[in-house]
Amino acid sequence: MAGRNVLIVYAHQSPGSFNAAARHVAVEALQRQGSHVVVSDLYAMDFRASATVQDITDEPRNPEHFCYGDETMWAWQEGRLSDDIKEEQRKVKEAELIIFQFPMYWFSVPAILKGWIDRVLAQGFAFSMEKMYNNGVFKDKKAMLSFTTGAPESMFLPDGINGDMNVTLWPLQNGVLHFCGFQVLAPQIFWAPTFCLPQVRDAMLEGWWARLQGLWEEAPLTFVPSEYFDLSFTGGYRLWPHLKEERGGDAYGLTTGHHLGKPLPPDNQIKAVSLKDQAKEDHAHSKNGQ
Ligand SMILES: Cc1cc2nc3c(=O)[nH]c(=O)nc-3n(C[C@H](O)[C@H](O)[C@H](O)COP(=O)(O)OP(=O)(O)OC[C@H]3O[C@@H](n4cnc5c(N)ncnc54)[C@H](O)[C@@H]3O)c2cc1C
Repeated sequence: MAGRNVLIVYAHQSPGSFNAAARHVAVEALQRQGSHVVVSDLYAMDFRASATVQDITDEPRNPEHFCYGDETMWAWQEGRLSDDIKEEQRKVKEAELIIFQFPMYWFSVPAILKGWIDRVLAQGFAFSMEKMYNNGVFKDKKAMLSFTTGAPESMFLPDGINGDMNVTLWPLQNGVLHFCGFQVLAPQIFWAPTFCLPQVRDAMLEGWWARLQGLWEEAPLTFVPSEYFDLSFTGGYRLWPHLKEERGGDAYGLTTGHHLGKPLPPDNQIKAVSLKDQAKEDHAHSKNGQ
């Protein structure tokens, strides 16, 4: 769709890498659709990864016990955050879609990208206790992870040695993106490009190009709405008891994280399946006595 703003937060050191190629494909495809694409090339920018007192431009309120979360929230409210953070926050505010392009490091993002998350998504700017999850600050924006792995897909299956990729993705997709309100699109995973045949790598990039043509129309991943939880201090932000009871007979948990002690709903963090469709599948599953 024309005229939309996209931010690509890109974390790879080498312009000859597969990540660089994936970034290039995204920029080309989205610009051809008329989108305005901005890239934050974190290594090229020498983006600082550590969250320190340097992130505020004057004296902290409490220098004796510097509390990064509080101090940066106040600094955000008062326009005292460092220029590099302000600039990234401006890009986030303008973007309708953010794509994070990176190689998986230690089941997560490279430190420079974690630093971007820690420093840019400051309290107040990106979340508050009143504005989180589907009531979050960025509920009208989309975000997605696009990343390469060293391991082949088989190693990240539920019976693979690394364990289920859905579990690996939960902290980033739920704990960071959805927590800030983003509608999270299914991740784009490029499995083990280093060990693929050249034609497989070409096919992966062609698949990415094809997906980008319909990206704006994609349904986001399913998370449990905040309204399902008792959002009072005394209620402990837990699932309402009547909902827990209603879900008692389901074959699967609600999401990868909200599994309620049941088997995880298949591919909850990899494919978009609505809670309604999931319930239908669940029903069919129970009916077949599986
Ligand atoms: C600290 C660290 C932690 C890690 N932790 C994990 C982990 O937890 N789990 C895991 O699975 N892996 C892990 N890895 C491995 C890492 O995820 C992979 O090395 C990385 O994802 C590979 O992507 P790349 O872009 O660097 O590939 P590259 O090696 O740069 O590229 C792969 C191949 O693609 C080729 N290529 C480049 N451009 C194109 C193009 N336009 N068309 C076709 N081919 C092209 C390149 O020439 C190369 O042959 C870790 C690595 C490090 C360093």
